[in-house]
Amino acid sequence: MPKCSIFNKCGGCSFPHDNYDATIEYKKNFVIDAFKKEKLDINFDKMITTSNPYGYRNKMQLAFGNNKGKTSFGFYEENSHKVVDLDYCLVHTKLQNDIAFYIREIVGKLRLRPYDEDRKVGLLRHILIKESFSKKQVMVVIVTSTDIFPGRNDFVKLLRAKFPVVSTVIHNVNPRKTSIILGDKERILFGKGYIEDELCGLNFKIASKTFYQVNPEITNKMYNTVLEYASLSKNDVVLDSYSGVGTIGMILSKQAKEVISVESNSQSVKAAIINAKDNNIKNVKFVCEDATRFIADLAKENYKLDVLIMDPPRSGSTEEFLNNVNKLLPRKVVYVSCDPLTLVRDLKILVKKYKIVKTSLFDMFCWTKHVESCVLLERR
Ligand code: SAH
Repeated sequence: MPKCSIFNKCGGCSFPHDNYDATIEYKKNFVIDAFKKEKLDINFDKMITTSNPYGYRNKMQLAFGNNKGKTSFGFYEENSHKVVDLDYCLVHTKLQNDIAFYIREIVGKLRLRPYDEDRKVGLLRHILIKESFSKKQVMVVIVTSTDIFPGRNDFVKLLRAKFPVVSTVIHNVNPRKTSIILGDKERILFGKGYIEDELCGLNFKIASKTFYQVNPEITNKMYNTVLEYASLSKNDVVLDSYSGVGTIGMILSKQAKEVISVESNSQSVKAAIINAKDNNIKNVKFVCEDATRFIADLAKENYKLDVLIMDPPRSGSTEEFLNNVNKLLPRKVVYVSCDPLTLVRDLKILVKKYKIVKTSLFDMFCWTKHVESCVLLERR
C-alpha cells in the first residue's frame, strides 16, 4: 500500500513508499544496463543511498488550479497541468508541508482566486518554498499573474505570525502563458530576498531562481566523491563546466591552483561570483558562456587543462564539446550526470581517448526513477 493517498495521481514519485531497497535495485540495474547496451565498462564503485528517504527535499513547488470553480492547490499530475490537491507529502519536510497547508488557509481567508490558464483570469499561480536545513531559514515565493496583489501585507503578516522561521517572502509576477514557474519581475515583501545554506564547509546564498541541488545529504556526498575522483594537486588547472552557482568549482578550489567555471545562465553566474566573494575564494574565475563555445576556444589555443568537471543538464553535452575534450586531453574527466541515457551517449565519444575508471551512483531523488551518476575517466 502506498503511504501517500495521492500516489496514483501525483506526478512526483514513481515508486510507492514501501520498499526503498527495491527502488535502489531498480536504479542500479537501469544504469548498469544502459552502460552494457553501449558496451561501456561501468567499473561500478558504489551507490550512495540515504538512511531516511523521507522529508529529504529542500524545495517544494506547488501550483494553484481551478477545479470547476473550486481552488485546487498541490502538485501536477504526470505530464499534465491538472493540479492534484495536496496531501501530506512524504518527500518534503514537515515544515514545508505545514507552511503549504497554512498558505492554503490564508489564501482562502483573503479570498484570493486561482489563475485560470484557459480563461486567463484570477491571481494565484504558484508557491515555491525553499528551506535551508543547515541555517534553519525558509523562503516563500508567491507567484501571481499580475503585479497587483491585494492583501499582500496580510499574507506576509499571517504567514510570519505562525511561522517566524520564514525569513524572506518574495512576490513574483508571471503574466505569461508558460510552463516556467517564475516570471521576470520580482519584489521582496519581507527579509533579504535570499536564504543561506552551508554545503561542504562553504556558504551559499540561494535566491528564488538560482539552481541548487534539492537533496542536501546526497549532494554533500556526491560533491565529496567529485573531490575524491578529481584527486587534485596544488598545480592543477581545473575547468568546472555547467557550473550553476559555482558549488563544485568552489569546493575543488581549495586543492587546485586555479578553477575556471563556465555557465550559460547569467543569474547563476552572478550568484556564483557573490558566493566566491563571501567565502573568500580568489582562485576561481567565472565565465558566462555556452560551455561548447568556451571549450572550443580553449581547444583552439591549445590551453593546458589538467582536470575537467562536467555536470550538464538532462539533455547531456554536445558532440562538439566532447570532441574538443578529446583534443584538449585533460588528465582526468569527472562527468556528473542526472540522466544515464545521455551520459552513456556522451561517454561513447570520450572513451575514444579515455578509459572509465569508476562510476558511483547517488539516490538524489528518492522514490522517483531519476538517478545521479558520477564517472571518473582517465586518459588512455
Ligand atoms: N554543477 C552545478 C549545476 C548543474 S545543473 C551544481 O552541481 O549545482 C546544469 C547547469 O548547466 C545549469 O546551471 C544550467 O544553467 C547549465 N547549462 C545548461 N546548458 C548550458 C550550456 N550550453 N552551457 C553552459 N551551461 C549550461
